[in-house]
Amino acid sequence: MFIFDAHLDLSMNAMEWNRDLTWSVEEIRESEIGMTDKPDRGNNTVSFEAMRKGNIGLCMATQIARYVHKDNSLPGWNSPQQAWAHTQAQLAWYRTMEEAGELVQIRNGKQLKAHLENWKTSEGKKPIGYILSLEGADSIVSIDYLERSYEQGLRAIGPAHYGPGTYAHGTNSVGGIGTKGKALLKEIERLNIILDATHLCDQSFWETMDNYNGPVWASHNNCRALVNHNRQFSDEQIIELIFRNAVIGIALDAWMMVPNWVRGESTPKGMNVTLQQMINNIDHICQLAGNTLHVGIGTDLDGGFGKEQCPSDIDTIADLQKIPQLLSARGYSTSDIENIMSANFLRFLQNTWS
Ligand SMILES: [Zn+2]
Repeated sequence: MFIFDAHLDLSMNAMEWNRDLTWSVEEIRESEIGMTDKPDRGNNTVSFEAMRKGNIGLCMATQIARYVHKDNSLPGWNSPQQAWAHTQAQLAWYRTMEEAGELVQIRNGKQLKAHLENWKTSEGKKPIGYILSLEGADSIVSIDYLERSYEQGLRAIGPAHYGPGTYAHGTNSVGGIGTKGKALLKEIERLNIILDATHLCDQSFWETMDNYNGPVWASHNNCRALVNHNRQFSDEQIIELIFRNAVIGIALDAWMMVPNWVRGESTPKGMNVTLQQMINNIDHICQLAGNTLHVGIGTDLDGGFGKEQCPSDIDTIADLQKIPQLLSARGYSTSDIENIMSANFLRFLQNTWS
């Protein structure tokens, strides 16, 4: 079954982890034996080959570069200009992958339709479709940079990531969106870019809802009812997003799937983390909505964590093909499953771009 993954940090892996995604998952693992600079070395799950094997023919692919103030201990660039330049390096990698025939950028409904048709009918190695998104807006030096990003193909943006940001407060911080955030939302709306509500802290989330009327979704966000943490959506937030016709992508980071996960200590097997918890999150949103139209897949695989911190039944991203069977076992019909695996996000994109 065709899969749309709403959140993959492909260029971050290329440009910060030094992973060549044209290699197989195995080859990347072997190249990282003995490396200790990142907690997930040798545990990667994503490569272009694995995506093709898993029929993941389209994804939201991020640019991500945080700017941090001097008084903040989070890792990040010391100026928004450096952060912007880093996103441009990431974009340059996406462009070279297009030239190599590995990726194809999708910017509008016509290209989307053509890509889906091509993926279905063509033989051999096919370019994987990617739509550019920005995780955390700190690299937008000033509001007019957003139009430049739009020209480059940016079609979704999350105003915040972790901590306090220029335009909103993100995960593990408390605060609103301020005048800069409001100005950014106006520009997002004018350019018809999709607002990604993922990572907004509660106050910034609700202020965003009060100040924004354009298309909104959440690319990778799980349910607070299942794991109680500010990174997760409360039922009230999920209901608000459903009311706005959003789709919420469910992520596979283990600490967002089971309570009491301890980073670097807990193991997927020890905590019994499997795709079943993803199904629980999917089901929770379907129960709140009363239908299967508002949830999808947004794995975040290799988003700073690997096999050591994702479901034990995931070896590579190709294992996402296990999800339809699990949904079927929970009583979901074929059309429900198609909605969840891709159709909800694809419909959202076509509606936004029509
Ligand atoms: Zn994220």
